[in-house]
Amino acid sequence: MTIAAAEPVPFTADDYAVRMHRVVDQAVEAGLDGVIVAPGPDLLWLTGYRPTAITERLTMLVLSRSVRPTMVVPTLERPDVEAAKGATCFGIVDWSDGADPYAVAGRLLQPDGRFGISDSTWSMHLLGLQEALPDTRYRALSHSLPMLRAVKDANELGRLAAAGAAADATFGEILHVRFAGRRENDVAADLARLLREFGHEQVDFTVVGSGPNGANPHHEAGDRAIQPGDAVVLDFGGLRYGYGSDTTRTVTVGEPSAEVRRVHEVVRLAQQTAFEAVRPGVSCAEIDRVARGVITEAGYGPQFIHRTGHGIGVTTHEPPYIVEGEELPLKPGMCFSIEPGIYLSGRFGVRIEDIVTVTSDAGQRFNNTDRSLHVVE
Ligand code: ZN
Ligand code: ZN
Ligand code: ZN
Repeated sequence: MTIAAAEPVPFTADDYAVRMHRVVDQAVEAGLDGVIVAPGPDLLWLTGYRPTAITERLTMLVLSRSVRPTMVVPTLERPDVEAAKGATCFGIVDWSDGADPYAVAGRLLQPDGRFGISDSTWSMHLLGLQEALPDTRYRALSHSLPMLRAVKDANELGRLAAAGAAADATFGEILHVRFAGRRENDVAADLARLLREFGHEQVDFTVVGSGPNGANPHHEAGDRAIQPGDAVVLDFGGLRYGYGSDTTRTVTVGEPSAEVRRVHEVVRLAQQTAFEAVRPGVSCAEIDRVARGVITEAGYGPQFIHRTGHGIGVTTHEPPYIVEGEELPLKPGMCFSIEPGIYLSGRFGVRIEDIVTVTSDAGQRFNNTDRSLHVVE
């Protein structure tokens, strides 16, 4: 079955209820009494609620085996919470300025319970809870339930496919803009404009790493004027319909050198081989090993200086991480990047990246632009 890009059906209260129920089940399986979720990607995914601003006033969703899902919210933000799509699935307890919000939240927690707590919780809130309930224990949600959002449903897959298609359309257009003599920042601005034109509501990154800057995987874009002969790493993405895109292609300005061609071919083969290894049951680490094996075999192992990939969903970086040591098996519906690279310090870099989902028996790419080396002007 092929997953197609889709104009999404809005998430319903039922979708959120299913997610909340699943989280409690997973928490109990992990030996927890429940989870506590502060504003951020987990809360958005669980309830559809995103505060307009995250402030020092406590907002906290409590999901537990013993009480109905309940969100503790500042009284003045109650109307915003009630307007959220998932609001019919949880109770609301508000607290007014001057009250102790930790005492209010504490009444929803067992005094000696064990809870997962979302990574985005401010430490002042965790410390407040610990003071209110000294015998309650907490674990980071990323450690206790790392795969909470990792398996996507059909609606989410359609959105990720749509985001990927928009990123692909962006790449198709950027091949026609001028590179030589313009600054990296100018091409980055073109990428951002195109992502929005093709339906992204948010642009998260527009990497344009020309020449030696391409050898720094964290270089975004700068004032460097792009030169004829440069290899240029283009890595861009953001959110469309609330779900992420993230793709990388490396192009050359005019004809590439033999070395750029050779390195590009190694990266392309590593990316292709790792993609072909994707199927349910294979571990995340194994995908990393496959990509790394191809690059090591070609003699560039030490120049592949990062993990092979990361998950994507309501954020552009989340579990599962495609990295040595991550022995979790792939499951249908997981979505992640495969993005091997080779970085020759001071000279140039090459990276190729697609978002891939796991189907019932293989992998399917959400990025489908040509992975051969393109020459731009
Ligand atoms: Zn259940
Ligand atoms: Zn990327
Ligand atoms: Zn990526």
